[in-house]
Amino acid sequence: MAHRHVSAAKSRPPTLRAPVKGGRTGRLFAVDIHCHILTPEAEALVKPHFRPETDPLFKFASPETREVNRLQAQSICDRITSVETRLKVMDKAGIDVQAVSTAPSQYYYWTDPEIGRESARLINDRIAAAVAAHPDRFVGLGTLPLQAPDLAVAELERCVKQLGMRGVEIATNVQGIDLSDARFRRLWAKAEELGILVFMHPGGFSDGQRLAQHYLINVIGNPLESTIAVSHLIFGGVLDAYPKLKICVAHGGGYLAAYSGRMDHAHAARSDCRLHIKRPPTRYLKKLYFDTIVFTHHQLEYLKDLYGADHLLLGTDYPYDMGVDDPLGFIEGAPGLRRDEKAAIAGLNAARLLKIRVPAKAGRAKKKSKAAPAKKPAAKKAAKAAGRASSAKPQKARKLATARRGRK
Ligand SMILES: [Zn+2]
Repeated sequence: MAHRHVSAAKSRPPTLRAPVKGGRTGRLFAVDIHCHILTPEAEALVKPHFRPETDPLFKFASPETREVNRLQAQSICDRITSVETRLKVMDKAGIDVQAVSTAPSQYYYWTDPEIGRESARLINDRIAAAVAAHPDRFVGLGTLPLQAPDLAVAELERCVKQLGMRGVEIATNVQGIDLSDARFRRLWAKAEELGILVFMHPGGFSDGQRLAQHYLINVIGNPLESTIAVSHLIFGGVLDAYPKLKICVAHGGGYLAAYSGRMDHAHAARSDCRLHIKRPPTRYLKKLYFDTIVFTHHQLEYLKDLYGADHLLLGTDYPYDMGVDDPLGFIEGAPGLRRDEKAAIAGLNAARLLKIRVPAKAGRAKKKSKAAPAKKPAAKKAAKAAGRASSAKPQKARKLATARRGRK
């Protein structure tokens, strides 16, 4: 099955020349950077090896949470596996293109390297097959066996060079090892070299002993996990060493984006916060991209003011219950965003990062405004001139398996 998928992908690779539909309903051209797919054959491969203690979202869950997860897994089974159902939901929501990534429950970093490699290949081949069947509606973000960095680098190259993927999705740590660890440097170097987008998505908080109730392991654990991961990328020198990396952090970037001043203060005050970087930490933070899964307009506009409209990417978390059903409505209804900023956030930024051809009429949406293009939003200049958002400078920019499936 996997080989057939690979073959299909090779015979009809996703192409940059393929026209991308947009504005069919008169809405903004929209690309979903944060949406998941499940690969049953990979699930079957690892099922005999699963140990609950290896997965924080499973380990730190109350009985009530496990029941909700079980029911959710049943309810979303079709949406997370069927391409045709996916297309119908996209059409209803006005999503032109999905950048499809695996369900985080399928990272499988806890397996031995060979199973990790094989499961990653199964998942990536499935994603590639969906893209090959609908190259105008999907682009692929691969998964990597990060428990074996050499194998991860090899799979990264296969994803990009053979399967035509535009990026990868990675977790925020690898079985407790932070992504600033020396073993991952070759991976960051390769990601930078290939110019692909790295979508960083947590799989639950690694130390969640106090987060098992109320689904806190996800509700606050996921953004907390991203906060820690980004901090390691900054203070550990990864973003300094690989300045051209393109990283999008899920769930609005977690909490760090809202309290970044504390990093700069620490960097100035303490020598132990300057071991690997010379510049203030927020300089690196502003290189990152964030999805729009923040639920409130004030949070969305805060991110825009601080990081620029060109650093925000529409996300849905399809098809999970922590996601957004009307992502375009959320963006379109933000009172503090201009039309060109909404167009950039809805799809033009992701199109640029993922090398998706933008349909002419979607491009016009961008040009409707006489304001500056997304890279240098005029509103940001005005905000800066008014003395607020002073640091806003855009950078260049199921039983078991069923239960596990019900989480993101
Ligand atoms: Zn997600």
